[in-house]
Order: sequence, then C-alpha cells, then structure tokens
Amino acid sequence: MESLQSITKNLTFMVYVFIVIIAAIYFLCLFVKRLEKGSKEEKDKAKEEDSGYTREISLKDQQIRSLQSQIRHLNELNTRYLVFMLNVPTVVLNLNTTFDFDKITTTIIRLVRDILATDTVELYIYDEKDNLLRRVSPDGRSKAQVTCAMGEGLIGRAGQHSMVRIGGQGNESTGQNGVERTGDQLYMAAPIQFSNRLLGVIGAGEVSDPSGNEGSLLKMIADIVGVALFNQKFLSGAKKEAEIDPLTGLYNRRYFFDMVQRFVEKSILEDTPISIFMFDIDKFKHYNDTNGHAEGDQLLKELSDLVSKHTRKTSVLARYGGEEFIVMLPELSKEEAFVYAKRVREIIAAHPFAHREKQPEGFVSISGGVASFPADARSINGVIQLADAALYQAKREGRNRVIMHKPFMFSDRTAENR
Ligand code: GH3
Ligand code: MG
Ligand code: MG
Repeated sequence: MESLQSITKNLTFMVYVFIVIIAAIYFLCLFVKRLEKGSKEEKDKAKEEDSGYTREISLKDQQIRSLQSQIRHLNELNTRYLVFMLNVPTVVLNLNTTFDFDKITTTIIRLVRDILATDTVELYIYDEKDNLLRRVSPDGRSKAQVTCAMGEGLIGRAGQHSMVRIGGQGNESTGQNGVERTGDQLYMAAPIQFSNRLLGVIGAGEVSDPSGNEGSLLKMIADIVGVALFNQKFLSGAKKEAEIDPLTGLYNRRYFFDMVQRFVEKSILEDTPISIFMFDIDKFKHYNDTNGHAEGDQLLKELSDLVSKHTRKTSVLARYGGEEFIVMLPELSKEEAFVYAKRVREIIAAHPFAHREKQPEGFVSISGGVASFPADARSINGVIQLADAALYQAKREGRNRVIMHKPFMFSDRTAENR
C-alpha cells in the first residue's frame, strides 16, 4: 500500500516535471519565434530604406543628365552666337564693299544657315516694277522663274506686312513672332528693308535646336542685309557709270585699260597671246553732216550691238573714242584675230544701216588694225599703238580694210583682200 502511494507520488511528480518541461519548451519556442519576427521586420525596413535611396539616386541621376544636356545645348548656342558675333564685322565689311550681287547673296544665305542651324534658307529680292518677290538661288545665281506674289505664302506675307512670321507644325495663329502654319518647308521669314523700303525677304526652314531667339536673329540679319543690298545697288550703279559708255553700252576706255592690265598678267603667267583689234568708222563726219547728229548716234549704237553680237564673251569690246573702237582678244593669235577682224568689217559693210547708201562707198565701212602681245611689242600699250598705226595705214591705203601689223616691216603690212 505504502509502495503504491509512493509510486503515485512519484508519478504525479514526474507529470509535474513533464508539464513544466513542456511549458518551458513552449515559452522557448515563443521567444525564438518572436526574435525571428523582430529581425525580419528590421530586414524589411532596411530593404525599404535601400530602395528609397536607389529611387532618389536615379531621380538625381536623371536630373543631372538633363542638366548636362541643357548645358551642352547652351554651350552649342553660345559657340554659335560667339562665332556669329565675331564674324559680323567681317561679314558686314564684305557685304558693304562688294559690287558683286552674287557674292552678297551667297554670303547672306550662308550666314543665316550658320546662325540659325537650318538647312533651308531662301532669299527673295523685291521687284518693284512687277510688285513681286523673285527668288535668288542658293549658289547666288538668280532664278528668275521662282517668284512669290505679295501677300501670298509665308514669304509674300512677310513682304507685305513687313514683319517676321514664324510657322510651325502645331497651332495656327498670326502675329509678330507668333505661330503660323506655312504650308511649305519654311519656318519663318523676315522682310529686308532700308529706309522703310522693301528690298526683299529672307526665309528660313525648321531650326534643329531652337533657342527662342530665332525670330530676332533673322530680323537682325535682315537689317544688316538691308544696308548691304542698298549699298550694292548704289555702288554697282556708280561702278556701271564709271565703266560703261552711256551711248553705246560698251565698256569705256578707262575700264578697257583696267581689264587689259589684268589680262596681261594672266597672259604672261599662262604664256598665251593677247591680240588687239582697233577700228574706226570711215567718213563718219560725212554721215553726221548728211543725216544729223542724232542719226549718227543711232548708227554708233546699232554698230556697237552688231559687233557685240559677233564677239566672244571672253573678249573685251570698248568704245575707245568718238567713232573709234577697240577689242581685246585673249588667247587669240594675230592670225586668228585678223580672221575675226576681217569678218567684223564684212558684217558691218553688209549690214543695212539707215542712210548707208548716202556714204561715199554706198555702205557703212570701217578701217582697222591688228597687233598682238607679246609677238609685236613687249608692252600691251606698245601693241595698242601698233594696232592704231595699222588702222591709220588702212585709212591711208583707201579705207574699208583691216591691216595686220608685221614686225620689222613697218611700212610693209598685209592688207586683207577686199
Ligand atoms: P575717217 O574715215 O578718216 O575716219 O573720217 P571721219 O569723218 O570718220 O573722221 P573725223 O575724225 O573727221 O570725224 C569723226 C566724226 O565723228 C566727227 C565727230 O563729230 C563724230 N563723232 C564723234 N563722236 C560722236 C558721237 O558720239 N556721236 C555722233 N553723232 N558723232 C560723233
Ligand atoms: Mg572715222
Ligand atoms: Mg576717228
């Protein structure tokens, strides 16, 4: 009995011990679990913080990249404007000191293309007589065919309203520096004016990297061009007056001598001849006396046109004096020049000039002389004197003939067969 009691006691004790152990294990597990949960939360929190930083860094990176590209763009603009500013004095000087219209227009087109970074630049010159704008081709040669009516298209509207108009792909509206759909590949156009007079219009195509100042820049260039075009018109008029004989439209004696010097330099460098043909109208005083001075003038004009028509563009034909003419024939030997001179005499003799029948010969005739550089003289002035001497020899020998100067045989010249 006693042993049964002790066994029960022991068992009870063991059960208590067992329960205590189970409880201890349970609490231990709970503790471990809680520890695990705590560290996971910490990890998640750290992870979250990490991705926040990454986002912020990539945002900042994007901002840096965009700032860098803006800086690059501004640097490019800065360089472009700087080059433009540095070039302006030279361009203005070149534009205002040349008579050459082609050179001016080429410079203008290049200037607009460079400063606005656009592929398309169109220059139009205002034709006052027909009240329209005529396009000048990019390489300077005028394309008379391409015209633009006033008020029509971007160019015509810029010409008519005298303001810059900017076209674009988007909205449609008008106004100074406003946006306007153009319908062509031009993006903006500025009128070229001087003293409130329209001289032309410059149009520019889409600008690859616009800064917003394009309208003002184009207007500024147009203002520079306005002065240049006005000067060109004025200077070329003055130059023409200084070079051209007003009655015949041929070059005058002064221009002839300027040209001769240039051709002589070329001829020496290239070892080519220059021939001179001088001629004088026979009995022109008689023509004047018989038909009047006005008719004499008319004959001078008509004869000049006739000789021009039969003379190469590379030759220089000038009115040397009253009814005396001179032709410089580059790269022509004396024999070749003699052939040309005889032909000119024949053409004049055969031409149905008014009152020709009243001349002593029954037609209008000339006498001429031919000499060559360097074959006949060491200077071109010497050659001109020899051609002149040959001309007077032709007069002495009966007129209506051309004589070719023969070296070393001053009195023995070859006269053409009539
Ligand atoms: P020759 O055959 O010897 O050359 O005789 P010529 O009558 O042509 O020569 P001359 O030198 O005696 O006369 C030239 C004339 O040309 C005299 C002058 O009045 C005339 N003359 C010169 N310039 C002009 C001009 O611009 N217009 C007109 N109508 N006559 C002019
Ligand atoms: Mg004469
Ligand atoms: Mg004469």
